[in-house]
Amino acid sequence: MAPNSSIFLSNGTVLLHDRLDNINPVKADVLIIDNKIAKIAPSISPPSDATHLDCTGKLLAPGFVDTHHHLWQTQLKGRHADDIFIDYMVKGPFELSKKTYQAKFSSGSSVYSFFSPEDMFWGQMGGCLEAVDSGTTTVVDHAHMNYSAEHSSSALSATVASGIRSYFCYVPVPHAPATSLAPFEYGTNKAEWAASQLEDLAARQPFGDGRVRLGVAFDAFYLPKEFVVSLYERARGMGIKLFTTHYVQHALFGPRSFVKILHSCGLLKDDILLSHANNALPEDAELIVANGAHISSTPGTELQVGLGYPVSFRPDLHDVASLGIDCHSSSSGDMLAQMRIAVQNARGLFNQPFVEAGKAPRSLDITALQAFNLATIKGARAIGMGDEIGSIAEGKLADIVIYDAESPSMICGAEHDPVAAIVMHASVRDVDTVIVDGKIRKQGGKLVAVEMESTMAAEGKMEWRQIAAKLSQSRSRLEETLKTVDMESARKAAAQVMYVDEQNIVDHQ
Ligand SMILES: [Zn+2]
Repeated sequence: MAPNSSIFLSNGTVLLHDRLDNINPVKADVLIIDNKIAKIAPSISPPSDATHLDCTGKLLAPGFVDTHHHLWQTQLKGRHADDIFIDYMVKGPFELSKKTYQAKFSSGSSVYSFFSPEDMFWGQMGGCLEAVDSGTTTVVDHAHMNYSAEHSSSALSATVASGIRSYFCYVPVPHAPATSLAPFEYGTNKAEWAASQLEDLAARQPFGDGRVRLGVAFDAFYLPKEFVVSLYERARGMGIKLFTTHYVQHALFGPRSFVKILHSCGLLKDDILLSHANNALPEDAELIVANGAHISSTPGTELQVGLGYPVSFRPDLHDVASLGIDCHSSSSGDMLAQMRIAVQNARGLFNQPFVEAGKAPRSLDITALQAFNLATIKGARAIGMGDEIGSIAEGKLADIVIYDAESPSMICGAEHDPVAAIVMHASVRDVDTVIVDGKIRKQGGKLVAVEMESTMAAEGKMEWRQIAAKLSQSRSRLEETLKTVDMESARKAAAQVMYVDEQNIVDHQ
């Protein structure tokens, strides 16, 4: 980064968090120097070479922190609109991604994947840019695309180039790759390469001027306890600061609880982030809170695929909750939508007992501000970055979203209550400008061209439309392979690999 680059944001309405997580909107100037918020004041004299953005009629809010996302899945968009959980798994991460493609870059290994490392690059780039476009500045990426070391490297280079801030949570125990398409079968994947890639990446992190940190994503709790414990301890020893795990209590997955397993292994600490937590048992919720762990609730996907009601407003989990997207292949990729689904679903749940009792609640005890905080400051805390991101404050990293407060959807609302306007009325269209780590990544409603230098799939600067063309070509290639798959055996194989209890899958009555 060049020394003393600065951005001057003048005359906007700045949403400032106070100590109790309330929002105070103030008319102010903001000065960004390098990657930090240097000053917030009623009137600032900026350096003469500062990039000046006039923010009159605009809201300045903290960038969203999305705490659970599989960023690589862009080419799968549109396939899952009516899918229940097992169908999503079959057509998404499992079946589609583990097929006829022989990873020719994968130094001697015989991994088969539907996505080539290049497909993975464009899929990941698409996920990152959809996030930036919609005001997300930090994403926890549960990066389960590691069908080979090259697939992960490719995705990581896309994340770095995209400009987003991310925890790239590496999967050290990848699922077994497919060995046959018809019938569909999985092989075994000892994946020694994954253990050494984790070590290599841990030694080289962070990436992208500190923007992209390495985390670990782990779901393989069927493995022996000693293995799991030594893996976490080794990773912690390598300086990994975030561990994320899918955690749902559901008939499909049997009675085991990953929270109890983590706790019994002595691993449940404040660097643990559990995704979903639908139907969490009260004693599990207690363990999560008592041990300083956090959860990521992804209402869009959870409501659709039948995991149960989202829990971000559940009284025993709300304090440690945050929000995520999960799959932009099936659900909206913007946090504005997730906040809205989360808050209205929680209100529906809150109101229903009154309705059923023939009564009416006197008031709502679930607020738009709570939803806003889940998507900003609480997301930051959930990943141990509460002092660095998640709110606008002097000294924090410069991750700022500028909304057009005079758009058809925001006008009047933004003047009356900016938080209500963002949570209830804003759409991606209203996200005018996005600054991540002191760099402008979207301006005037348009993504800034991405510098592809040092990525493995492209060179030079690329505009979004050029990236879209690459995605479209990649999707067509993948579509051809899809036609050759035996879906019925794929479904069985995916169920097996997921340890899904198929007896509990039943028809509608
Ligand atoms: Zn997930």
